Amino acid sequence: AVLADQIAAGEVVERPASVVKELVENALDAKAAQITIETKEAGLEMIRVTDDGEGIEADDVETAFKRHATSKITSREDLFRVATLGFRGEALPSIASVSDVVLMTAHAGDETGTTIHIKGGKIVSNDASQLRNGTQITVSDLFFNTPARLKYLSSLATELSHVSDIVNRLALSHSDVAFVLKNNGKTLLKTAGNGNQKQTFSAIYGVKSAAKMIYFNAKDLDFEVDGMVSYPELTRSNRNGISLMINGRYIRNFKLTKAVLNGYGSKLMVGRFPYAVINIRLDPLLCDVNVHPTKQEVRISKEPQLEKLISEGIFARLSQENL
Ligand code: ADP
Ligand code: MG
Repeated sequence: AVLADQIAAGEVVERPASVVKELVENALDAKAAQITIETKEAGLEMIRVTDDGEGIEADDVETAFKRHATSKITSREDLFRVATLGFRGEALPSIASVSDVVLMTAHAGDETGTTIHIKGGKIVSNDASQLRNGTQITVSDLFFNTPARLKYLSSLATELSHVSDIVNRLALSHSDVAFVLKNNGKTLLKTAGNGNQKQTFSAIYGVKSAAKMIYFNAKDLDFEVDGMVSYPELTRSNRNGISLMINGRYIRNFKLTKAVLNGYGSKLMVGRFPYAVINIRLDPLLCDVNVHPTKQEVRISKEPQLEKLISEGIFARLSQENL
């Protein structure tokens, strides 16, 4: 089982940022209002995620580390209407198979909490422990038993930028959740969690950038889109300022990113890219998130129609501003 988990880990856990993503998504699925992410050495030494969510019942803690043990979907039908961020039940067993994990949790109403320690996929201990509010998971020595993986990691600075990037996007797609990200004790992000997406944007990209963002929205029979786009003068040299969300799930999609750029027509300088936060709402039946284990790629029905809606919506909004 450990070998199967390590193989799955190859797909789910590429680098420290992938661990951060999975753990934060679990905290979000547990309805946390406050999520703290602490890393040491960009997560290579340690990653700790603390949440104030629902927690895990004592009897379910070991199960949570078994493959395809998800508490989130119960039928085949659900697979096409996924509302939670996780649903494949692969993350915890994958992570635990290639690192040293200590998880402390307590479920509301329980009399004691649970602390489980798993190393390289093997349970070291599983004991009742002090009651706590929510879940704290600490992942140390990532890839200690898969040296090939370890070898392919980039510099600490690059790994840290990946961690930052994923936390930024998760925070942006959940502005009602208060996030803190720290590396080696230094705070890299702190959001208010008051539901104001522009404030979250400001916490990430700075007040000056936030002041150059304008709201827009667009809608047709199948899709509802809203968000913020930057004045054409506020640009950067890559596409990383463009964030796409479908039903609250952060996604990557080349064509939709292109649609955002098309909305600027000829207003952008060559080689420059705008900032944009695009929230897309659609019937989950129009969207297949079960394409890849990391769930960042999705397949959207009627995608050309959505691209058109986004491009035209942005174009119309920028035209109003007489820019
Ligand atoms: P998935 O998220 O796909 O269900 P995971 O392997 O990420 O699978 O997690 C397995 C299970 O462990 C989840 O379904 C959930 O029941 C539980 N779990 C994991 N992390 C948390 C958390 N932070 N708070 C509450 N429950 C959690
Ligand atoms: Mg998960």
